[in-house]
Parts: sequence; structure tokens; C-alpha cells
Amino acid sequence: MRKVKLSSAYFGKEEADAVAQVLTTQVVNMGQEVKLFEEELREFFGRNDAQVTCVHSCTAALQLSVQASDISIGDEVLVPTFTFVSTFQAVRANGAVPVPCDVDLDDGFIDLNDAESRLTGKTKAIIPVLFAGCSSKIDKVYQFAKAHNLKVIEDAAHCFGDENIPNRDGIFCFSFDPIKNISCGDGGCVLTTHTEITERLKDMRLLGVIGDTERRFQGKRSWNSDVKELGWRLHMNNIAATIGRAQLAKFSEIKMLRQRNANMYLTGLASIPEIQLFPINSKTAVPHIFPIIVKNGRRDELQKYLADAGIETGIQYKPNHLLSYFDMGYALPNAEKLYSEILSLPVHPLVSEDDMVYIISNIQSFFRNT
Ligand SMILES: *Cc1c(COP(=O)(O)O)cnc(C)c1O
Repeated sequence: MRKVKLSSAYFGKEEADAVAQVLTTQVVNMGQEVKLFEEELREFFGRNDAQVTCVHSCTAALQLSVQASDISIGDEVLVPTFTFVSTFQAVRANGAVPVPCDVDLDDGFIDLNDAESRLTGKTKAIIPVLFAGCSSKIDKVYQFAKAHNLKVIEDAAHCFGDENIPNRDGIFCFSFDPIKNISCGDGGCVLTTHTEITERLKDMRLLGVIGDTERRFQGKRSWNSDVKELGWRLHMNNIAATIGRAQLAKFSEIKMLRQRNANMYLTGLASIPEIQLFPINSKTAVPHIFPIIVKNGRRDELQKYLADAGIETGIQYKPNHLLSYFDMGYALPNAEKLYSEILSLPVHPLVSEDDMVYIISNIQSFFRNT
């Protein structure tokens, strides 16, 4: 029987050769590869006025961005409950409180009316998550933030390669984890036009040692530098960076395959009344996940039907306010409804056109025959 995995990396000989090459140099810590990857990413994002800081993961990118935004113990940060737990932990890692907010039912985006009702004197920031690559309401977040004097940090983990994403001044956190649009094994980056944020990130990722990034890029060590704030070992190393560079070099292929798969779903599932699709911009989005909403309480049944046909699906995500650590004692009805109806379908580059036809015809036959 055919087997289709929900998610996968997309590595080949290019990545293997790049890693072998770096290993033979014996220089695997943060150095030239990271410097080059940061430069190539900046060019890729098309923002000459922005800087890129590569770190160990998107979780690290978020955590350090929160710290660099001067958010600390006791401060509150508005976060949509419908996200990977990473967004919540990144806030908590700073001693701040992630305040779970409800989301809109059509796209999983943070519900700003709900967010407004959770403002207190301690609210310092908002972290919109561009869930499944849906970003059409982002301008409203910046207006909201301006009205309430909040910082904005964008969790753009689902958006790498969407040309609309860096078209504003902000702080964007991207993920290069094993299954994201490009992967370093593990990795992430912050893209921002705020130079004062970048300056702090560059030291913070290397234990707060002032100027360490520049010296490492020159192949030097920092023997007598000062440290002025809390820092972490959350930098990216040369092995991860060289994998990322190889992935970036073939991104047009990755983008084409992910978009082809997403467009096949958009066409193939459009006529099924029990399925609601997310409003992704099918021209610019490079979908990392492809969730659908299954109505009439049939999500679990469909998931089992597909599993029996060898098709793996997922439920992204369990809302964070339902996790013991982040439960604030209130319900968030839209997020809970989405959680009961959402289903992620395979969309990664290793899902072939044949696989796509197979998945879509299985979904169609489920609704036709059962
Ligand atoms: C993957 C993901 C993250 C975390 O990325 P890592 O690189 O795995 O730390 C954060 N937020 C969202 C929405 C994600 O999907």
C-alpha cells in the first residue's frame, strides 16, 4: 500500500556534500558559514535595510527577540492560543506571562477583540502567529499595538519564502527545523530592521559576550570581552549553516513543489461542502502546513479513513491554554472549535503528484461513500 508521511525534510547530495566539506575544515563552530548564510538570507528576503541573525531554532529566535524587546519577569505578552508550544515557552523563558488569546475561525489568526479584553497594565507585547501562512490581517495587529503601546514580534515559522512577509518594518522569527520550508537540521533566524535589536541578539546568542559575533566571523576568539546582560548559547554553528545554505540554493524547487501540492488541494477539495479551506494567498504563500477544517463532526473519522489508506495527517495544534502549564482558567471557544475540526494534510516536497491525486481521491471518496 502507498504510504504518505505528514511531513519530511528534503535533503539530498547537496546537503551531504556541504556537511562533508565543512567537516574537513575542522571549523564547525560559528564562523564563515554562518556569516555567509546570514548574508544570503538577507539577499533572499530582499531587504537591504534589515539584518539577519541566525540562531539555534525559531524558539531561540522568539526567546531572544522577547528579551531584546525588554520584556521580562511579570510582563504579559498576548499570544494566540492556537500555535506550537514554542511560542508560549519562548515568552515563559523570559519570566514573562504568555496570555492565551482566542483566534478567528476562518484563518486561526489572533482575535484582536479577545486580545483587547485581556489587556492589563502589564501587557507589553503581542506575538501574532502567521498560522498556515495566513497573514492578511497583520496590519490590524500593528494598528492595535500602536494604540496600546505594545511591541510586536511576528512568529513567521510558517511563512518562509512568502514574498509578502518581510514587506514591513518588524521583527520576524523564522524556523529552519527538520520539517520547515528550509531546514538546517535545527535552526532559525530573526530578520529585523531594528538595528538595536540585532545588536543585542548578536551578543545574546553567544552568552552575552560583547562583540563575539564579529570576532568569530574573523576566526578570532574573545579573551577579554565584557558581558553586560544575560546571554545564552543559542547561536547557529557552521554545520547547520552549511545545510541551510544548500537548502536555500534549491529553494525555488522546494517552493514550486509545495505550491503545486497546495494548489492541487485548493482545486481538488474546493467542491466538497464539508471541507473549509484556509484563505492562503496561493500565489505568494509557500505552505509549511496545509490544514483543512472538517465540518459535521467528522474529522476523526476522516483521519482514520486516511490512516487506513496509508496517509498520515496531523492536528496542529492543541491550543496552549489546554496545556497544564499555560492554563489560565478560561475557555477560548473558537480555538477549541478549530482544535476539534482541523486536520493537516501532507504538503511537503516529497509528496509526489501521484501521491496528491491519491490523497485527494481518498478524501473525495470518504465524503461520497461514507
Ligand atoms: C516550528 C514552529 C516554531 C518553532 O520552531 P523551531 O525552529 O522548531 O524552534 C514556532 N512557532 C511555530 C508556529 C512553528 O510552527
